[in-house]
Amino acid sequence: MTSPAFPTGTIVGYPRIGRRRELKKAVEAFWTGSTTADELEATAAELRRTTRERLTELGLGAADSSIPESFSYYDQVLDAAVTLGAVPARFASLQDADGGVDLAGYFTIARGAGEDAPLEMTKWFDSNYHYLVPEIGPETSFRLASDRLVREFAEAKADGYLTRPVIVGPVTFLALSKPTGEAPEGFRPLSRLPELLDVYGELLARLKAEGAQWVQLDEPALVSESLDDDRASVLEAAREAYGVLGSASERPALFVATPYGGLDEALPVLAGTAVEAIGLDLVRGSIPNTEDAEVASALRGKTLVGGVIDGHNIWRGDLEAAFGRLESLLALSPNVAASTSTSLLHVPHDVEDEPELDVRLKSWLAFADQKVAQVATLARGLDDGHETIQDDLRQASAALVDRRSAPGVRDGSVRARTASLTDADFRRGDYADRLSAQDAALHLPALPTTTIGSFPQTADIRRSRAQFAKGVIDEAEYLSRMQAEITRVVDLQEEIGIDVIVHGEPERNDMVQYFAENLDGFAVTQNGWVQSYGSRCTRPSILWGDVERPRPITVEWSTFAQSLTQKPVKGMLTGPVTILAWSFVRDDQPLGETARQVALALRDEIADLESAGIRIVQVDEPALRELLPLKKKDQPGYLDWSVGSFRLATSGVGDATQIHTHLCYSEFGVVIDAIRNLDADVTSIEAARSRMEVVDDIKASGFDHGIGPGVYDIHSPRVPSTAEVTELIEKALAGIPQRQVWINPDCGLKTRGYDETVASLKNIIDATRAVREKQTA
Ligand code: GLN
Ligand code: ZN
Repeated sequence: MTSPAFPTGTIVGYPRIGRRRELKKAVEAFWTGSTTADELEATAAELRRTTRERLTELGLGAADSSIPESFSYYDQVLDAAVTLGAVPARFASLQDADGGVDLAGYFTIARGAGEDAPLEMTKWFDSNYHYLVPEIGPETSFRLASDRLVREFAEAKADGYLTRPVIVGPVTFLALSKPTGEAPEGFRPLSRLPELLDVYGELLARLKAEGAQWVQLDEPALVSESLDDDRASVLEAAREAYGVLGSASERPALFVATPYGGLDEALPVLAGTAVEAIGLDLVRGSIPNTEDAEVASALRGKTLVGGVIDGHNIWRGDLEAAFGRLESLLALSPNVAASTSTSLLHVPHDVEDEPELDVRLKSWLAFADQKVAQVATLARGLDDGHETIQDDLRQASAALVDRRSAPGVRDGSVRARTASLTDADFRRGDYADRLSAQDAALHLPALPTTTIGSFPQTADIRRSRAQFAKGVIDEAEYLSRMQAEITRVVDLQEEIGIDVIVHGEPERNDMVQYFAENLDGFAVTQNGWVQSYGSRCTRPSILWGDVERPRPITVEWSTFAQSLTQKPVKGMLTGPVTILAWSFVRDDQPLGETARQVALALRDEIADLESAGIRIVQVDEPALRELLPLKKKDQPGYLDWSVGSFRLATSGVGDATQIHTHLCYSEFGVVIDAIRNLDADVTSIEAARSRMEVVDDIKASGFDHGIGPGVYDIHSPRVPSTAEVTELIEKALAGIPQRQVWINPDCGLKTRGYDETVASLKNIIDATRAVREKQTA
């Protein structure tokens, strides 16, 4: 077939939550029952319409397939599952005769109902976005069960736009799925590819009949080496999928987008199929070098879509260099287009929505709308020649130069300090010495009990913080309210009988933003919301300059709590890797360098906590696993700096001070070496949610420091019974020596209510006491 021309400028996807989080509000109103499905549909249609208008205003074409239809009510992987009819058996009653589900049913699959657990949620590649994990077994029947994609294309067409439908591609869909409970041992969802391709083929034919010229299939699985399926199977699946779809007679032209890294060996595979356009993430990956004559000749027949504008970060970047990359692509194919490296889902809408951000800082930034404009500029350069965009390129370069020399970006004393670090700064005393010093200092019972840090964040607490931020209440009033809350939380823990006390973190809006607000080198936004999952959004801080701690941050809260009790109070900090992972981080130096600066700020904080009499400090690193690079070759370097920054933060203390860390997931096996190398005295980890499965990994690894596998799944309002907790503790003790075991919930309690928290903690203590008695009996 002769394919229609691919647009010279496009984006892989656009934020869907809305500039003012309109979708979040509409969806949540629908959940509470205050609006109808029709009203929600209308709001969503309006959002899609304003998005199309905005994108054309910013320079994308209205009639050339350059606008992607990347809307989703909740999640794009769930959308694909529902489109393909791949709904788990427990939700079968939600399906109509054709396998379709209505909006209410769609949200039920996402959020669960009663005993029916929702689809599991996990991180989307190395981003902080969470997708829903489809469940696929030999019994799953695929069929085209939703025409939402077709309807959205038709809606745009009726509005005068020729857009480009987007769907998660078949390989990524299956590679990210997990086997159903019924599937036999060793079953891989990827084995269902042939049947799935029939449905994709049908969908493509429908879109073609409706008039779609291009369709985008998102295949980030093709860049990853960190999937459950091995690389060879993924490549083989790609060969098969695009062999089959490519040879379909009734279909739009295919654009396979492959964000989050270089394609490497997957490029020749795609080049060998009939797909018309291949997306390359040229921010993470590099210009392919095609020594193979056959591959080179195949590529000359494809449109190469250069993802040269970083979709995953907020810097304005080097436009000149980006254009240079597109020019290099021209050596491989005469058909080259400019694009973003990933969907713009990961960045906020508009820098112009930040009236309070420093003007100079703003001139260095590009949020989604600015990035679309950058793409449009590059496309103009491709169409009309480099000279026509000279001014834009020069302005971007000037911003870069300005950024390099601005005060705060490079601070002499911070630089001198990181430069003078020696190995000794990354090392604590011998573990055996620490153990005895800590025993003597802390006098903890066997199976010590603690929590992960936060206590329920009540409406009152949130209101007090908001009132203080707006100046409605003064500092003295704010302090007294927070102290009252801390007193309540400490008393409660004493009463319940918890051994290591926390202050409850009432002063924190967010575990990263709180530190960002209190460190130099960070800025926070007002409207910079980014979808985290479903209707949940976060507002990542911007780490733009050298990081320094102007004054102690948490010491007063922790020492106040310690003044209320004889038991040890655990100081609570967020670790360097997590602070980086959940912020927008400067891109002008290696992450490891930035992490060291954050680590030094935390090291000073820990030193202050220690000298103020705090004997235990927890440094949370829930993002350690998330930032692990997708490419194997990049992993050792990452583990080196990430573990190093944790050790730098925590190695300044004496042997008697106990360092804890906390990880929010149960994939212990994947990062066991890293966890071991953190050399924390105690590590708490999620385990209740996966019924202590992690114990086997811990046992197999020979991990010999303190470990607290969670015994309370805090993601659910359910109160675990004493018997249930006892069973979990016994499971832990069956695999891990008792001297190592700590008893704690899976994670912080901030999203829980007080009633269930108190009841659960009481049961945890009862269970612990029962097990302790059994042990000594
Ligand atoms: N200390 C934090 C809390 O308890 C940890 C949260 C997390 O691991 N995400 O809320
Ligand atoms: Zn956690």
